[in-house]
Amino acid sequence: MRTLEIAVCGSGIGGLASAIALRNFGHNVTIFEKVALPRPVGSGLILQPTGQSALARLGLLGPALTHSRTLRGIAGHTSTGRTIFDIEYAALGPDMFGLGMHRGALFHILDAERERLGIPIAAAADITSSSIARDKRLIADAAGMSRGAYDLVIDATGLHSSLRKAHAVVVLDKPYAYGAVWGVVPEPSEWPHKHRLTQRYDGAKRMAGLLPIGHLPGTTQPLSAFFWSLRVVDFAAWRSSDFAGWRNEVTALWPAAAPVVEQFSGHSDLAAASYADVWLTVPYADRLAFVGDSARAASPQLGQGANLALVDAVILADCLDAHAKIDDALVAYAEFRHSHTRFYGLASRWLTPFFQSDSRLAGSIRDACFAPMARIPYLRREMIRTLSGLKTGIVTHQSPNRLVGLKADQPV
Ligand SMILES: Cc1cc2nc3c(=O)[nH]c(=O)nc-3n(C[C@H](O)[C@H](O)[C@H](O)COP(=O)(O)OP(=O)(O)OC[C@H]3O[C@@H](n4cnc5c(N)ncnc54)[C@H](O)[C@@H]3O)c2cc1C
Repeated sequence: MRTLEIAVCGSGIGGLASAIALRNFGHNVTIFEKVALPRPVGSGLILQPTGQSALARLGLLGPALTHSRTLRGIAGHTSTGRTIFDIEYAALGPDMFGLGMHRGALFHILDAERERLGIPIAAAADITSSSIARDKRLIADAAGMSRGAYDLVIDATGLHSSLRKAHAVVVLDKPYAYGAVWGVVPEPSEWPHKHRLTQRYDGAKRMAGLLPIGHLPGTTQPLSAFFWSLRVVDFAAWRSSDFAGWRNEVTALWPAAAPVVEQFSGHSDLAAASYADVWLTVPYADRLAFVGDSARAASPQLGQGANLALVDAVILADCLDAHAKIDDALVAYAEFRHSHTRFYGLASRWLTPFFQSDSRLAGSIRDACFAPMARIPYLRREMIRTLSGLKTGIVTHQSPNRLVGLKADQPV
């Protein structure tokens, strides 16, 4: 087996997972990270069965199970409390579930493994450009300092990747009008939905949600991630608005959430996040592979981005192991990931207006149609497969094992 010299740009979920997967195949990997003190950004996420299988391939599912909350399903309700959908993973099999996690817990698990494997990380390295010289790839930071040469560079710098803008054929890069503000609080002891992501809607304009996320490493306090949908152009106005007035607005929409929002004391307890739809013709260029949000991005409506990044990481490492030529490995990586990532890109784009938009009609259609749809057994299973990250097309799906490149298939 040949040993490749590989640079991974970005130490987020996709970058750390890629570095670990490649190191496990014996490659020499160095990570370059923009921030001086790498740490997780964001609050909570759902580790779907696909992401769980990818973590299992890295030998890291055990710690993820310890530092998360098992989720049985997700539920959405209107402002009057009417249920729009309430779907459970178990419909696909007894061993299917989601894991609500603090992003910090996932980061900690991946970073501890990086350290154990001795993968070096160069912090405060803002990688903004890259070039080819003598059949190797170089990278350079914002100050113009060049690093390399590498057999392969992996771009895992996320949604705002400079390398993607310079080296990929970008067919779509469109920001969403709506984002969200997020905050983490100790889970209220009386919270009734400890194993569910629960959302509350008022049309498509207002949405709140609460995700149980377990506890951070080294602590025992269970946490919940709360989010509130907001137009990106209104972020600044929200920050200067009356905070008590906002809390009243949330509890008027969702009285049961009062013990959650009462724990926020000011705007700075919540962080704003915006999203974009990004799609590339192929997730690679010459000796350059894109993984995670740099390879494609979507709104987090279906909760798949981190999971897709984890799956990218293990499949890219497999393809490099299976093909002697890097070019062939990158083509194989793109082909393997195409149908899965394409489905979630399109599904997120199609679904998001029903949950976050100014359209009155979209909210009404959702409220009228989702509940009857969820009562039809075939559609209900398809909804759960979609949530679980298993879809590869409108009528096709794969098991989590297959999606992460394992031969042994698991019936779902
Ligand atoms: C509000 C919100 C909720 C979400 N909920 C979910 C969910 O429930 N489930 C789910 O699966 N996904 C969710 N996602 C999506 C998920 O967070 C992303 O898809 C995932 O973090 C992508 O991982 P990544 O490694 O590609 O990028 P990131 O996690 O963004 O990491 C990128 C890394 O690159 C570094 N970097 C950036 N620029 C440079 C540079 N120039 N040079 C060097 N380093 C650089 C950054 O500092 C960072 O460390 C959510 C996203 C948002 C915004």
